[in-house]
Amino acid sequence: MRFYLTVALCLCSQLAGAWSDHASLAWPMLRERDALTQPSLVAEPLEAFLLAESDGVAGVLDQVERAMLVLDPEYPATPAELRFDGTASDDLRARFIAALRISPRLSYSLYHQVMPGESIDGAATVSWQQLSFLEPGVSHEDTVYRPLLPGEEVSIAHVVASASDEPDMGMDIGLYTDNGTEFGARYGMGPQPFGNPNLSYGSQAPLHMGFYHLDWLTAYAQPELKRGLPLWRIVLYESLAELAFTTGHDYWGWRFMGWALHYIGDLTQPYHTEPLPGVSLLSALWSVITGRTDEVIQLVSNRHGVIESYQYRRMADLMDRGRWSSPLLQSIARPQTSCFLSAGVIPDLTLGSVAMGDQLDGILSSVVPARFVSDPTFEWVGSGFEDQVVDKVAGV
Ligand SMILES: [Zn+2]
Repeated sequence: MRFYLTVALCLCSQLAGAWSDHASLAWPMLRERDALTQPSLVAEPLEAFLLAESDGVAGVLDQVERAMLVLDPEYPATPAELRFDGTASDDLRARFIAALRISPRLSYSLYHQVMPGESIDGAATVSWQQLSFLEPGVSHEDTVYRPLLPGEEVSIAHVVASASDEPDMGMDIGLYTDNGTEFGARYGMGPQPFGNPNLSYGSQAPLHMGFYHLDWLTAYAQPELKRGLPLWRIVLYESLAELAFTTGHDYWGWRFMGWALHYIGDLTQPYHTEPLPGVSLLSALWSVITGRTDEVIQLVSNRHGVIESYQYRRMADLMDRGRWSSPLLQSIARPQTSCFLSAGVIPDLTLGSVAMGDQLDGILSSVVPARFVSDPTFEWVGSGFEDQVVDKVAGV
């Protein structure tokens, strides 16, 4: 049992962030399409969208609530007092935020991320601190953001890319009853199911990780791991996007699409869909018997951290140097295979992600220096090697 409890604690401290800078993951593909890069959207404040479509928003949120109660037996029902009343016109923004059960500590203002290779020519910028209450992560330190004025034109590519990183700005932090926030006490989400609620980034983990295909023993021994909620976020933002598009609010259609895309991106990461990729049930049990569970968890945590650092450094370096025709960026811009989620995100995307876990874990253990991925006494996060990971893997 200690094994599972330790897994639960670890899952949050190191694994909550997922991909660094989701905007740059989508950008190589978005920037290649002329129709997406022309300034064709008109920025609209959230309040204006809500004022125009409050009835529709109330209807969509009701539909999502009913759908989630059927789709996910672990879904925590929205408390009646938080349900969005489309007939009232006061306090729309605060009531919308409460109905979505997202953090009221963000401004949800109009902005976009300035992407690699773009110049802002002395235009105004907006600081990270104006967009988020979190300390900036490594990938955010050098990122420049531009404020948008209501009515200002902006491209679909910029809105989708920027919005796809927004859920990592703190939208899902502090939502649970034991997170010590006033809104968490009201949101009806119960105690945080896994992860350490005391860590600044930690409480978003159950919203960004979904263990939808647990083996029977893990599901039995630690049912809390089944209470991840990324599917809810995807269904919610997809539904709001559809409403926005069909009612002529394209800016919010694309911004909600970007929010949904974030969680889809997180679920492509095997370390977000499986508690211990590369560790068989038998090995896990053996580590319990031999008292080596902490070592197993440390190795998985380090491999998770290494792949994210590696991916971010490789892409950031190529984009900063304008190497758009490089094989890596081209593999995103013009993918050889397409993934049609005909049966839905679950199981099509999540099963594929889980299926790649063992292979990814095996590759990491064979190509990355052993110190980083095969030494249980080493801690990757904060090791100072994050900047050098590409050279270290290349043997430089
Ligand atoms: Zn995430």
